[in-house]
Amino acid sequence: MYKARAYSAVRVQSPLASSTIPRRDPTERDVQIEILFCGVCHSDLHYARDEWHSVLPTVYPCVPGHEIVGRVTRIGSGVTHYQVGDLVGVGCLVDSDHTCPSCKAGLEQFCPNQTMTYGSKDKHLDGPTYGGYSDSIVVDERFVLRVPANLDLAGVAPLLCAGITTYSPLRHWGVTQGMKVGIVGLGGLGHMGVKFAKAFGAHVVVFTTSPKKKEDALRLGAHEVVVSTRPEEMSRHACSFDFILDAVSAEHDLNAYIQLLKVDGNITLVGAPEKQLPLSSFGLIFGRRSVSGSLIGGIAETQEMLDFCGQHNITADVEVIPIQKINEAYERMLKSDVKYRFSIDMASLKSEQA
Ligand code: NAP
Ligand code: ZN
Repeated sequence: MYKARAYSAVRVQSPLASSTIPRRDPTERDVQIEILFCGVCHSDLHYARDEWHSVLPTVYPCVPGHEIVGRVTRIGSGVTHYQVGDLVGVGCLVDSDHTCPSCKAGLEQFCPNQTMTYGSKDKHLDGPTYGGYSDSIVVDERFVLRVPANLDLAGVAPLLCAGITTYSPLRHWGVTQGMKVGIVGLGGLGHMGVKFAKAFGAHVVVFTTSPKKKEDALRLGAHEVVVSTRPEEMSRHACSFDFILDAVSAEHDLNAYIQLLKVDGNITLVGAPEKQLPLSSFGLIFGRRSVSGSLIGGIAETQEMLDFCGQHNITADVEVIPIQKINEAYERMLKSDVKYRFSIDMASLKSEQA
């Protein structure tokens, strides 16, 4: 065991602050990674502030961060896929049971015995797992991803959650050329959803509550932008969408989007607001429409997404911040004031040690 530096929250209302955490020495199948960048996901904020208390109570101290990019610094004797010096990524999962039907189907995100990157019971050390707001992490090689060499690393980090969480449902629902696709909420997830839906050939419509994001939405690849607080703009799109991806982090009117689906259209929720969203059965009955959810993606699909990004030169649009600005970044994220993902430059944590 060794001590790593990290930013952690110790209770529900405390800001994140500098601390040390235990990490295991690499066992046979482990890879030790020096973290270079870590994206800031809205889930980090929900979790650090115990906003999911009723379904997933936060275990403190908590070190968020599941959009990790770094360099391999040590490997266990049985590691076969990675070498010291490799550029790698780690997302929301660091372990699973490898035997359940979900694991066998490559859907480790649905394994009942999964270990999340932060907040799960650590199988090796006492206490919870600690995430990527840290200078290093040790992960079983089966949960380590290979990062394409041609991409900017600060912009790659968010692919490990925001990227796969939008790529996976767009693929699952067969989004392709000729389909009309809506993306609700132009945040970290939403802006990746726009890039992927565009890359898959769809006609992309962004729904935003922020009129000032219109130009950016078009630049990111949207064909149309709807300001969702304007009913006349919404009603123009009634019954016209094949698929809508809802990536909103707060309470909003889900039924208004169901009205925009075609017969047999689907809206998939990836946003996980603190409060439940009311659902009207009428909107679903008329039109045989469906609502579903989606959680990140499996490990093989995450690698497929990273490779796709390498081939198509896709990364997140990031604002790089030092870790000392993390609490400020959370406040800005709550105001939808980020273009379009914060990415922490972990060199800032190392400079604290000096
Ligand atoms: P984010 O960057 O903060 O983006 C959320 C966006 O939602 C905002 O940019 C804003 O877009 C919109 N929004 C915010 N408040 C709103 C309100 N009151 N009414 C309507 N729209 C509002 O967050 P994120 O990191 O993309 O995460 C989005 C959600 O997905 C979070 O709840 C997060 O926990 C969840 N998540 C789920 C998964 C999964 O596997 N399912 C994975 C990662 C994250 P506009 O300004 O364009 O309106
Ligand atoms: Zn996330």
